[in-house]
Amino acid sequence: MAELKEEEVQREKSVFAQISEYNHEKVVFCHDKDTGLKAIIAIHNTVLGPALGGTRMWQYASEAEALEDVLKLSRSMTYKAAISGLNLGGGKAVIIGDAKKDKNEALLRKFGRFIKNLNGAYITAEDVGMTTKDMEFIRMETEHVSGLPESMGGGGDPSPVVAYGTYMGMKAAAKKVYGSDSLEGRTISVQGVGNVGGYLVELLAKEKAHVYIADIYEDRLKEVSSKYKAKIVGMDEVYDLNVDIHAPCALGGTINDDTVNRLKCQIIAGSANNQLRDEDVHGAALQERDIVYAPDFLINAGGLINVYSELVGYNRERAYAQTERIYSYTLEILNLAEKEGISTHLAAKQLAEKRIESMAKVRSTF
Ligand code: NAD
Repeated sequence: MAELKEEEVQREKSVFAQISEYNHEKVVFCHDKDTGLKAIIAIHNTVLGPALGGTRMWQYASEAEALEDVLKLSRSMTYKAAISGLNLGGGKAVIIGDAKKDKNEALLRKFGRFIKNLNGAYITAEDVGMTTKDMEFIRMETEHVSGLPESMGGGGDPSPVVAYGTYMGMKAAAKKVYGSDSLEGRTISVQGVGNVGGYLVELLAKEKAHVYIADIYEDRLKEVSSKYKAKIVGMDEVYDLNVDIHAPCALGGTINDDTVNRLKCQIIAGSANNQLRDEDVHGAALQERDIVYAPDFLINAGGLINVYSELVGYNRERAYAQTERIYSYTLEILNLAEKEGISTHLAAKQLAEKRIESMAKVRSTF
């Protein structure tokens, strides 16, 4: 029999074995024949507060793949909220389907009713395949929605805040490695110049860094390149560039067996979720190669901070001020990892877990 890949081994496990491995509190399978809704809501941990995390609509190759995605993403949300000092737990939802063809008002509102039945244990927001307009439909059935348009008291597009947090994390890593957080004259590759990547390039250009960009879309590359004088490089070439800093801002899993030894940078700091294909293996590989990795779930927390701000009455200035703290959190984690001789990803996870553990004690009495 052919050897199974790690993801396949994971999916071969029973549903309860997977839930138990990630230690989720609750996983809800939502099904509605009339609207064709097939969704999974995963609540990972609610010690710090209600589980907040976006809904992703994606045409998964299998239901097992959808389950794996929602379990991993919701666990990351727990760490992201905990490390950012927010009083939120971790959760996420996936709707199985083609966002371009299968999404409609009835399906979204039915999904909203499933969220309503969780009585606030889960709060949803936008993710891949969803828009602020979709949030409006869900909001018609439940109040447990964030990421609403500005016209409805929401924070609007979170991408500039995410880019700002990523930039703060990058500057902190520069401070650690070079003794100065100035990015002037530094060579930086930005992989993926979509919503977040585009705003990040703008910040880097303002600081007079030399920016290289890679993306699938030619038009977008030309637009960003001409606006900010960034140099376009190939999608594969980006792994071999002789740059100071590499910023993965496309999809997850780009630091993997094929790429980890090709990178020549001293720092990795980007916005993409789940950048390390295998947290333990590739986190350790970067540590061995003396590449300082600013943990993704920490430095891309600007989006979560932005939607959290909506829950307490949206204030953009406050969201930015809180996002700015990513700088000091990143430095703290990089120093901790060095002191303990562990990977920065592990150090960040340990710090997040420590906060959850100690807050569980605080909340053990009325
Ligand atoms: P986006 O879809 O707007 O941009 C992603 C860009 O990456 C696209 O332009 C796409 O063409 C490009 N891309 C895809 N695969 C690529 C590849 N192999 N090489 C080069 N480019 C490639 O998404 P976004 O909102 O900018 O998010 C970027 C990343 O940041 C994602 O991983 C997302 O999960 C993460 N993130 C986003 C937010 C947010 O609020 N937008 C918050 C936290 C984390």
